[in-house]
Amino acid sequence: MVKKVGIPRGLFYYNYFPLWRTFFEELGAEVVVSAHTTKQILDVGVKSCVDEACLPLKVYHGHVSEIKDRVDYLFVPRFTSVSKNEYICPKFGGLPDMIRHNFKDLPTLIDTEVNLRKSKKDVMSAVYEIGSYFTKDYKKVEKAYEKALSEYKSFKERVRKGYLPIDILENHKKIKIKSAEGVLNIAVIGHVYNLYDSYINMNLLRKLAGSGVNTITIEMVDSDIIKEKVGCLPKRMFWNFGRKAVGSALHFIERKDIDGIIFLMSFGCGVDSFVCDLIERKIRRSRDIPFTILTIDEHSGEAGLNTRIEAFIDMIRWRNKNESNVSTYGQYVYPG
Ligand code: SF4
Repeated sequence: MVKKVGIPRGLFYYNYFPLWRTFFEELGAEVVVSAHTTKQILDVGVKSCVDEACLPLKVYHGHVSEIKDRVDYLFVPRFTSVSKNEYICPKFGGLPDMIRHNFKDLPTLIDTEVNLRKSKKDVMSAVYEIGSYFTKDYKKVEKAYEKALSEYKSFKERVRKGYLPIDILENHKKIKIKSAEGVLNIAVIGHVYNLYDSYINMNLLRKLAGSGVNTITIEMVDSDIIKEKVGCLPKRMFWNFGRKAVGSALHFIERKDIDGIIFLMSFGCGVDSFVCDLIERKIRRSRDIPFTILTIDEHSGEAGLNTRIEAFIDMIRWRNKNESNVSTYGQYVYPG
């Protein structure tokens, strides 16, 4: 009988789903993904998770609850590090333990540790361990991983070309953004699981597109550019997200075609609180580019978010049109 592997639609689903799906399918398993986030999923997640957890963790708990009774295995990898000398937020490391503690009657949990801090080569021991749930044939596991990796690379390539990951994952057509007032380019910095879960971000990306905004996210920035930009920091960033976010922000600051920057922040996220503050300081010092922070949690109201987005876009358009790049206090906005 074909075994069903459940993948909760949260956290790193938005980064790695093409890789995971191909790998499990190549090993003969059926992949089942939890439903799209809804109020019910969020409410269950909030009830089953500790109060102090950030919104994405609570949402993830809701997805586990939604899927756990429909599958033979639940894939909840223990992510410690996905790149050399860097760490992922520690909440990812404790995720399988939280899930075990907070739910009864779970299917078999595939909770293999992924720790590439020392070397990328360490990925193979994780791959063999995950594969061993389905076959003892190591060659088959290697082949499945090879195919999964090539699927993942082509996914990443499309994202770099400007597709939003969510549009690829869900087969949406790339939206053609038109606006009588001209298209604005706005960079949105945030975790993939906040940016691409349209329930928890209250449809932020669609709203921006509907207002004539072309959204650029950090996944679209080339890794070499990020590496070069963070090289100027006095201290090396050891958070994987922090490095990408700060490197991308420094790149966006220098791009004259970027009209504004939004930081989408999770309430209660320690990483965000540091990274956002650092980015804001860099923006204020380097260039007078419009910048705003949108904070989300399970109590966020849509009306408040809509007002913030509309005001931000209106302000950019008004400034471009009426101020000719001269600020209200008489200085050139873009020196030189
Ligand atoms: S990085 Fe922040 S938002 Fe992401 S899991 Fe950790 S605390 Fe939550």
